[in-house]
Amino acid sequence: MKLLTLLTTLSLLFTLNAKELKKLDLNPLTKEESNVILNKATERPFSGKYYKFDKDGTYLCKHCDAPLYTSHSKFDSGCGWPSFDDALPGAIKKVIDADGRRTEIVCATCGAHLGHVFAGEGLTDKNIRYCVNSISLNFKENAALVEKKAYFAGGCFWGMEYNFEKVKGVLSVDSGYMGGKLKNPSYKDVSKGTSGHLEVIEVTYDPSLVSYETLARLFFEIHDPTQKDGQGPDRGSQYLSAVFTSDKEENQTIKKLIGILNAKGLDVVTTLYPQDRFYKAEAYHQDYYKKTGKFPYCHVYIKRF
Ligand SMILES: [Zn+2]
Repeated sequence: MKLLTLLTTLSLLFTLNAKELKKLDLNPLTKEESNVILNKATERPFSGKYYKFDKDGTYLCKHCDAPLYTSHSKFDSGCGWPSFDDALPGAIKKVIDADGRRTEIVCATCGAHLGHVFAGEGLTDKNIRYCVNSISLNFKENAALVEKKAYFAGGCFWGMEYNFEKVKGVLSVDSGYMGGKLKNPSYKDVSKGTSGHLEVIEVTYDPSLVSYETLARLFFEIHDPTQKDGQGPDRGSQYLSAVFTSDKEENQTIKKLIGILNAKGLDVVTTLYPQDRFYKAEAYHQDYYKKTGKFPYCHVYIKRF
């Protein structure tokens, strides 16, 4: 009876383990890979794919794809194997080697052999080195950042730049010129008002953090889109209100917002142009207010939506 209970328990355990393993959906391994991952061999030093490798991303278990380390914790220890001074929470299990001297590291999810861990070497602030076989790892590169650019003309670019630089998701703002005929215009050329350019800002942003519409709404709220002869005290064609759009979608967004403002009784004079060549302005115009510590005289936020 006792034996039967034991056998039942064992078979139940076996069934569970088999199910658990099936759920893990393990990747098939080559002979070389299983030699390290299953039989705990060590790859030759300086031979692995990820030894001299510094891309931005996450290292996964070759066998089960569990995330183990990020590139932020990787460092060059000179030992010949990829080295990390931290692992993702709960990703790694430590096991004392049979000889009781070294500490083996295995994937906490599937038990794949990864390498060994050493403490107290003083190589990094964290004072720990996860020494991992490249062959036990896969690498997933972080998705490259997609940048977009938006172009607005709303008077003096100093104040425009100042306001847009404060927006979350905006990566950078440059002051410059757009919309004229003259090639490589200088500030002097644009100031005369004869080159045809407007003072424009180039807003580089991360569309996953801020939308074009959010930027466009801000544009209409930090300048007066009804002023016909310039912006604030700055008069002249180079200070007129305009948006340079790069596609139909941007164009429709601006038209929609102008429609909303018109419905509120504002006689918007903002002109829409297709995007043209952007000429970055002279260095002293970039980050003008940040550099001088002055406060913009030309742009005030007014809630209009
Ligand atoms: Zn694993």
